[in-house]
Amino acid sequence: MILLLSSQFLFALQTISIILIPAYIFLSLEYKLIKRVKTKTVSVGPVKIGSAHPITIQSMTKVSTSDADAVIAQIKTLAAAGCQIVRCAVPTAADTAALKKIVSASPIPVVADIHFSADRALEAIEAGVAKIRLNPGNIKTKSEIISIIDAAKANKVAIRIGINEASIRDLGQDTPPDRRTALMLKEMRSYIRLFENHGFNQIVLSAKSSDVLRTIEINRAISKNFDYPLHLGLTHAGIPEDAAVPTAAALGALLSQGIGDTLRVSVAGDPVEEIRIANEILTSLGIRPRTEPELIACPTCGRAQINVVALARKIKTILALIHKPLRVAVMGCIVNGPGEAADADVAVCCGKDKAFIYRAGKKIATVSTEDILPQMQKQITSAAKKL
Ligand code: SF4
Repeated sequence: MILLLSSQFLFALQTISIILIPAYIFLSLEYKLIKRVKTKTVSVGPVKIGSAHPITIQSMTKVSTSDADAVIAQIKTLAAAGCQIVRCAVPTAADTAALKKIVSASPIPVVADIHFSADRALEAIEAGVAKIRLNPGNIKTKSEIISIIDAAKANKVAIRIGINEASIRDLGQDTPPDRRTALMLKEMRSYIRLFENHGFNQIVLSAKSSDVLRTIEINRAISKNFDYPLHLGLTHAGIPEDAAVPTAAALGALLSQGIGDTLRVSVAGDPVEEIRIANEILTSLGIRPRTEPELIACPTCGRAQINVVALARKIKTILALIHKPLRVAVMGCIVNGPGEAADADVAVCCGKDKAFIYRAGKKIATVSTEDILPQMQKQITSAAKKL
């Protein structure tokens, strides 16, 4: 009887193992690796966009493009912050006239943002931009679009076909939500056909909406139907503090499914903020390795033995000078503190009138409340030197 039970038990165990172990391995791999949806490679100057290459971060300059020196200064600041491709609006001939100087001084490829005017597109290509962003829907005639395609082909310039929900023909305010994505997809398909029929395939695609769910839906549909690289963004997202969460929700959902080859976070304000948020999204998803410190602070509750927010802010000023991927934790009490400290390079868990300092999960000192900050500074500096 015992023998029978134990053999049944072993059989059940074996069956469970056969099912669960591969599932666990599969899920672990899925968790660790976001598998990019396969897309072609498109060259934007020396930068390559497509699933065989790392996801690139883009931004736009926010001064008049006709002021070449101001644009160049802003591009250099953006490039230093991690921007890899920069776009400039060129609504006037004075803007495209400044492009030649901008292109030759820019450390990163320059893209001309075209709306309504085929002339501006042709002038920008002539000035040497690496790519143009075109919404074919607002160029007057088909022959003008074809003249842009021909010039881009002759000059090895890539084109992003960028459609916006607001500019889709046949789409009105009363168009029901479930028809909107279908109409955007139909319009994208007609443009792609036009470009392909003229032998042009250096195409990047984008379809933007200010609605998070529609952004996810249309990009999923495009990714399913075409294998050109996809540029992600949530348009008109707002000022940085309002834009960060919806942008992270839309782009995070897509990137976690392997969709997207390049992205721009659109915020009203300093474009460096766009780069900071874009980097945070990519590092949070593990798509990019972290290069800057990460500060974890407990949310505080009735057990907190110190003003955690004030302490975390002070520690953040110390970390602002450390350009290393250090993980630092500030915990308000010893309930969850030691657990969180185990995952941090440096951590502090506060107790009554004293605090415990941790390095790599090991308690190394007990200090008075007044000594927390100097001790944390010392440990952070020393831990950073070892990275
Ligand atoms: Fe509350 Fe302590 Fe957790 Fe902070 S670490 S949230 S103070 S239990």
